[in-house]
Amino acid sequence: MTDRGGPFVVADIGGTTLRIGHVTAGDPVVRGVRRVATEGLARYPDAPVAELQQRVLGQLATELAAYLVRSEAAGSRAVGLSFAGPTTVDGVALAAPTIWGEGGGSVALNAHLGARLGLPVLTVNDITAAAWRYARAEDDAFCLFTVSSGVGSKVFRRGEVLVDDAGFGGELGHWRVDWSGTAPPCDCGGRGHLGGIASGRGILRAVRVAARQRPGEFAGSALAASSAGRPEGITNEAVAGAVRRGDSFAVDVLRAALRPLALAVASVFSSIGIRRYIFIGGFAVAVGQPFVDILGDELTELGCFGLTPPQVRAMLMLGAADDDHSLIGVGRMLAAAGADPRLAAEAAHAYVDRW
Ligand SMILES: [Zn+2]
Repeated sequence: MTDRGGPFVVADIGGTTLRIGHVTAGDPVVRGVRRVATEGLARYPDAPVAELQQRVLGQLATELAAYLVRSEAAGSRAVGLSFAGPTTVDGVALAAPTIWGEGGGSVALNAHLGARLGLPVLTVNDITAAAWRYARAEDDAFCLFTVSSGVGSKVFRRGEVLVDDAGFGGELGHWRVDWSGTAPPCDCGGRGHLGGIASGRGILRAVRVAARQRPGEFAGSALAASSAGRPEGITNEAVAGAVRRGDSFAVDVLRAALRPLALAVASVFSSIGIRRYIFIGGFAVAVGQPFVDILGDELTELGCFGLTPPQVRAMLMLGAADDDHSLIGVGRMLAAAGADPRLAAEAAHAYVDRW
């Protein structure tokens, strides 16, 4: 085999947007990113799931084929696809509630797209792909949390994301942390899940509830001014801005919402001793350093057996402020597959067999 450093065409598909770009091994950025609206549930909310699956598959094949003939993609040896849902080692999508809604059969993305494009395709879960961006040394172990509209989590160790081959694991966002009758809903349909509480959406809901229940404190908050005193007028951007400026009402609500996230970190630490936690996702990044500071307060309060408070705080860090984690990560997976077939077999699963 000759040079396997790329370029690789990489794509990331979520509920609203499909992004396609290209990466070269050793280059820390993704280039030439093209964005189109996903041909899924968000665009066709009344379409049946089977039709949406066909639309999305057709769109992926068409857009990737069009990208592959661009001059900067010339010589691409493989395509990496980061997918917003659980996938198997063979690149079969098991579910994609945000892309095509609940239900529907599984979709063999690697097989379908590989046949259409005439190139090997590596499909991986988007959080798994994102974790690859942050892999440092061979022995490095860390846990990546995505805090955006929901919460995702993955543990990464020795070039491998620790999930079951059938796609189980990495779902602390759907861990139930609130058993009360008033537990907020999660986007999966459950109640009281971490992802419905410690997420951008969950925190916004909690801020609005607190504004109604504690009108005096709300009136004294910067959030009252930005929303003209209407709780339903509060936005995630305003909450993030208020927290950054130390607004005590916003900080209090965020602190309560992050307590179960601290519990999740403590449980991962207590069970397998991971000591690096990286937080990415729109809401965490919008809040910035105060997000990990407040989470650090709660985690210190909770305690991590055997660690001092400074050691506890040192475990938490923010990821990069861009939104390219999954694109860069899936590119690194492809590059690693070329550089080290053993690593590829473990981490990119069956991909190496398809070279
Ligand atoms: Zn859930």
